[in-house]
Amino acid sequence: MATGIVTASYIIAAVLFILSLGGLSNPETARRGNAYGMTGMLIAIIATVCGPQVTSYAMLMLVMLIGGSIGFYAAKRVQMTEMPELVAMLHSFVGLAAVLIGYATYVGGTGDMEGAEKTIHEVEIYLGILIGAVTFTGSVVAFGKLRGMIDGKPLTLPGRHWLNLGLALACLWLGSSFINGGGTFPLILMTLIAFGFGVHMVMAIGGADMPVVVSMLNSYSGWAAAATGFMLSNDLLIVTGALVGSSGAILSYIMCRAMNRQFLSVIAGGFGSSGGGPVAAIEGEVNPLSPEETAEALREASSVVIVPGYGMAVAQAQNTVYEITKNLRERGKTVRFAIHPVAGRMPGHMNVLLAEARVPYDIVMEMDEINDDFPATDVVLVIGANDIVNPSAQDEPNSPIAGMPVLEVWKAQTAIVMKRSMASGYAGVDNPLFFKDNTRMLFGDAKQSLDSVLKALQG
Ligand code: NDP
Repeated sequence: MATGIVTASYIIAAVLFILSLGGLSNPETARRGNAYGMTGMLIAIIATVCGPQVTSYAMLMLVMLIGGSIGFYAAKRVQMTEMPELVAMLHSFVGLAAVLIGYATYVGGTGDMEGAEKTIHEVEIYLGILIGAVTFTGSVVAFGKLRGMIDGKPLTLPGRHWLNLGLALACLWLGSSFINGGGTFPLILMTLIAFGFGVHMVMAIGGADMPVVVSMLNSYSGWAAAATGFMLSNDLLIVTGALVGSSGAILSYIMCRAMNRQFLSVIAGGFGSSGGGPVAAIEGEVNPLSPEETAEALREASSVVIVPGYGMAVAQAQNTVYEITKNLRERGKTVRFAIHPVAGRMPGHMNVLLAEARVPYDIVMEMDEINDDFPATDVVLVIGANDIVNPSAQDEPNSPIAGMPVLEVWKAQTAIVMKRSMASGYAGVDNPLFFKDNTRMLFGDAKQSLDSVLKALQG
């Protein structure tokens, strides 16, 4: 394929990626956004495969077949609840690819480059490997934390800020040594430091702040891809990497705002552990109720708000939730959904599940849109949510989640909380909501409980 056609294809693909991001910003246009993204990626792959840079088609086809099959198999097999882990794993692949391409480019030599051109090329290699290595190990640790293989509590090494600063300075010094003809040693040492830094950075971040980590690694993977694009002189990779990098950075900012955190403080780590002082003991009694009593409460209510959380995803209860919503709306009740920005285990997790169950978008509200309406709500159904409805974020300055905005469900006339036990949520914090006078606990798997509620409503 002529270079001009490849360039034109890249421009078309880049425009489709931008349209894709635009489409993904709204649930109603998300499907179209995905279609734009897939078409753009198909054009990009065809243009690259047919472009002048490919020298061995047999090798290319082989690796594409292997990679494509693994991707296809993993995506087909993955449960909705494992999606965040899959995303973390994919970020780690981008990071590792940047490291490997960096080394391959380095081994390939600088050819006849001289002066500034050679220096820029070496900076590209150095930065590509640095960002890629941090993204790789950071994403592997994030994968472990999301899967529950690594403890969610932050690892707070003594003098960790000094350690981070020391590592950053060492990378700067090694960088200057590499560019000034230091050879392979500074590159390898920096790679090892960057691997260690990625591990330490994510280990130091507490469970409650994981949403920021996920979006931050998303951003890093974009910058790693952009750096790879510079190394390979591939314009589309640079543009796509920059799009992913900057949209991930914006998402990190949104997540930080949603959790009332400073980005730099999250990255410095240590949040998500206790604020230092003693946390007040929770007092009160737990008031359980049955699915039939829940149905009765819903029948008597005129306004209902449903708060979905991670447990709804685990139980795969979204379709039953929709059936109940339909039943209640047919009875003339006002039913709305309240979505906390960090509900579930990945940004937009609840929106995806509700869209899958065909819940109308106009009754799905963001936290800020609905939080003031709880005092005028008769019944709130909290389905497998915990941290996002924890009043101690407001009342308990020593709580690990102190200051995080939460859905104020306890202000409703009755809050019915569905979960299997009294266990805490992802942040590992006890929840005083369960002991409040106007809270009722419906214990059991959310899907089974909701099936019984639906049956009682229909009966
Ligand atoms: P939580 O993790 O706080 O709570 C989920 C609750 O669901 C648990 O207490 C659990 O209680 C219950 N549960 C689990 N399985 C079932 C089931 N089958 N049926 C009924 N209940 C069930 O979830 P939230 O959505 O409230 O909050 C999200 C948390 O995850 C926040 O701390 C957030 O910071 C963090 N996080 C969010 C990310 C994001 O991007 N959105 C990414 C990473 C972390 P029990 O075991 O008793 O049933």
